[in-house]
Amino acid sequence: MNKGIIFDIKEFAINDGPGIRLTIFMKGCPLRCLWCHNPEGLSQKPQINYKTGCVTGVEYSVEQIFNRVRKFKDIFQLSGGGITFSGGEPLMQADFVYDVASNLTDIHKTLDTSGFCNSQIFKKMLSIFNLIYYDIKLVNDDLHQKFTGVSNKIILENLKILERSGVPYHIRIPLIPNITDTKDNLNDIKNLILSLENRPLRVDALPYNALAGGKYDSYNMEYPLKDINDVNNIENLKEFNQALTQNKIEIIGEEVKCLQKN
Ligand code: SF4
Repeated sequence: MNKGIIFDIKEFAINDGPGIRLTIFMKGCPLRCLWCHNPEGLSQKPQINYKTGCVTGVEYSVEQIFNRVRKFKDIFQLSGGGITFSGGEPLMQADFVYDVASNLTDIHKTLDTSGFCNSQIFKKMLSIFNLIYYDIKLVNDDLHQKFTGVSNKIILENLKILERSGVPYHIRIPLIPNITDTKDNLNDIKNLILSLENRPLRVDALPYNALAGGKYDSYNMEYPLKDINDVNNIENLKEFNQALTQNKIEIIGEEVKCLQKN
């Protein structure tokens, strides 16, 4: 059976899907988003954390994950929770994720993905997951390549596959000041969402995390956005929020709180 490289396992997670969850952070991501707040999740190889002296990135067998999950079965049942695969990009280790998830038939499974993966693999995953968290960052492909290092073509194609699959999903938008929270990009995302026949259950607008660069030093890496103005554009968010709510799309996220504050 396959083994997976994991950089963290979060127990009792409450923001990674319904109920109380066990979140598995798979190591390795094909994207290089300038704002990534998990630099230890970018490379698939184990890395030294120079602050702690520990190695980040441990190999787990499928059986080891099963054993971990078994301990939480009652909690999952009582809370309506389950297991979430996040990263990094979990589908970079698709065989391992499939081996684990396909055998946990009685547990709710959430996949948190950038959508950047082979469409055949993505379809296979849709057959076993109960909920998908799907990131949309930038609709303009030139900007997507500039700020994430890859084209969004496959991501937008997989979004079509996702909406037609009938699997419930959330769209998640990282709001990066002057990069993804621009008027043009939010307008493009709004149009993209409205063009979907099967709408997402929710749109999660994720405010910029001013501490995003906090872990880079530990891995002798430099945070690419260290000079960023870390305040999101409230006016653009307000328009985006209004446009989606007018179309009966529920938006969950800090930006709603921002709007209430202002
Ligand atoms: S997709 Fe997520 S994990 Fe990968 S680089 Fe972007 S923010 Fe980081």
